[in-house]
Amino acid sequence: AKEKSLNFLEEIVKEAADRGVAIQTRFPPEPNGYLHIGHAKSICINFGLAQKYGGKCNLRFDDTNPTKEDVEYVDSIKRDIRWLGFDWALERYASDYFDQLYEWAKELIRKGLAYVDDQTQEQIREGRGTVSEPGKESPWRNRSAEENLDLFERMKAGEFADGEKVLRAKIDMAHPNMLFRDPIMYRIIHARHHRTGDKWCIYPMYDYAHGQSDSIEHITHSICTLEFDVHRPLYDWFIQALGIWPSHQYEFARLNLTYTMMSKRKLLKLVQEGAVMGWDDPRMPTICALRRKGYTPASVRAFAEMVGVAKRDNVIDLGKMEYCVREDLNKVAERRMAVLNPVKVTVTNYPEGKVEYFECVNNPEDPSAGTRQVPFSRELYIERDDFMENPPKKFFRLQPGGEVRLRYAYLIKCEEAVKDAEGNVVELRCTYDPQSGGGSSSDGRRVKGVIHWVSARHAFEAEIRLFNPLFTKENPDDCEEGQTWEDNLNPESMIVTKGWLEPSLAGAEPGRTFQFERVGYFCPDTDTTPGHPVFNRTVTLKDSWAK
Ligand code: ATP
Ligand code: MG
Ligand code: MG
Repeated sequence: AKEKSLNFLEEIVKEAADRGVAIQTRFPPEPNGYLHIGHAKSICINFGLAQKYGGKCNLRFDDTNPTKEDVEYVDSIKRDIRWLGFDWALERYASDYFDQLYEWAKELIRKGLAYVDDQTQEQIREGRGTVSEPGKESPWRNRSAEENLDLFERMKAGEFADGEKVLRAKIDMAHPNMLFRDPIMYRIIHARHHRTGDKWCIYPMYDYAHGQSDSIEHITHSICTLEFDVHRPLYDWFIQALGIWPSHQYEFARLNLTYTMMSKRKLLKLVQEGAVMGWDDPRMPTICALRRKGYTPASVRAFAEMVGVAKRDNVIDLGKMEYCVREDLNKVAERRMAVLNPVKVTVTNYPEGKVEYFECVNNPEDPSAGTRQVPFSRELYIERDDFMENPPKKFFRLQPGGEVRLRYAYLIKCEEAVKDAEGNVVELRCTYDPQSGGGSSSDGRRVKGVIHWVSARHAFEAEIRLFNPLFTKENPDDCEEGQTWEDNLNPESMIVTKGWLEPSLAGAEPGRTFQFERVGYFCPDTDTTPGHPVFNRTVTLKDSWAK
């Protein structure tokens, strides 16, 4: 087989590993929301590359903003990474390094590379200038190191209110890269932190915290998304100014999906406003939602692999993700029979009260999955669509006078379609060929159509939830004048209906996905209660997207 060429990130990591570098990566989520499919890709890259090249990957919570973060998110993030099949070498928090970061900030002050600025947020923004115009130096820029140290210590001691002062790096107010125009290193936030409590009221900014945290952990490859490429020179600047262990940053294109919103802020809004049932609503792009919807970890990993690692932003067709889960479920999901839109069949020559069991294969792709016994009786349900009164040519399912195979069971022939006053078919009266059990027929005649069925007495009713994309637009942020992205929500994103399921599905618990033969892939939902089973459609059987 031809070897797949390595993506550019893997080339870089492999080259380092070949030189004997001990590969160390990290996945750095901010605990301000649940992980989504974009994060899953980042997880697969960071953990996957470390695994493949004999290295390690840390989990580091980027918890530098106490007002937006919560332990609820920390716990969910750990659960989701484990579910994806990865485990971290070390669990760390940017907040573990607050003391060290504070000491390093004082070192930069002593070196004349940082100062306390009293300007308002507004003044700082204005003073920064524009791309075509250099910025203005702050009137506080040339304070002595002693004064800066004193003020910075008093900032930490809580003497000032939020926004009264900031610590800035002293670089170049005319630098062509706007991020170099004296970037803010610390701001004052009087808020309780979910880990450090009230110890701190000054918090480091991303640009100051991230690279230094990487350096402390000796991260060899700090992999992040493309929008951080302009931050890289600043990342290097802090490390050089401090003379600390040299981590390096590498960027790849973030994952975007059609019909999918990936911003945590906007996803949070959907949850808070009740537009969805929660972070794990099966219509959400979060990892917990994919799990609830019946996706397998292997399918998510396969999807991350399939979309690859790009250097340019692009948008991936949502159909590719569905393709990946369908491929995996086809291999691993056990088959069952369920009828979603039933019409009753009475087998008139089958004895009343008789029940027999047919042995059904659980998974034709996996003999080790075994078989199960499915009851058959005189009254059945089949899909309404599997009968047509006046069918076109090549309709091989049930029609008046026609025969069809009931999957794993008998051939039946439709003798009569009983209708109600409005002309709707309410019952099909059929006869069966008693010689035709398990695939044979009494005279060797061939019958093309095979349909699924359930025994009406034995089947149980379940709520069935069918899902469509949450947004009506390929790009949910693309909206008409005067509208917002929320106007693009799909009113038909969840359709609630019913189904009649074969008895072996009774008591099925969330965490397993089944193929309902000829219907689609379905899994028990977490809303299931003893008297009220609920099943989600994971994905349809047919592919709308060709590989
Ligand atoms: P948001 O801006 O919505 O808060 P974020 O990117 O800031 O999202 P983080 O928790 O900081 O969220 O992300 C953790 C890691 O996951 C980062 O390294 C980030 O680059 C990566 N990541 C986030 N979104 C995507 C995406 N869509 N595709 C690939 N990687 C992503
Ligand atoms: Mg963020
Ligand atoms: Mg981030």
